[in-house]
Amino acid sequence: MTVPSIPPAIREILACPRCHGALLDAPAERVGESATLRCPTCALRYPVREGIPVLLLDQARSDQG
Ligand SMILES: [Zn+2]
Repeated sequence: MTVPSIPPAIREILACPRCHGALLDAPAERVGESATLRCPTCALRYPVREGIPVLLLDQARSDQG
């Protein structure tokens, strides 16, 4: 299975919309889910849809529940 990758140039400008910190790759939690981007500061996960990160707070999920 291939996880859609984010080009390095795009990745460098990605930042958490809440704290503006750097985001980390996080693998999918379940089969069939896409990978996410995780903010270690806010403990939020942002979805990656069709290889495009969705950096919206109302789309983010808590990493702790
Ligand atoms: Zn953050």
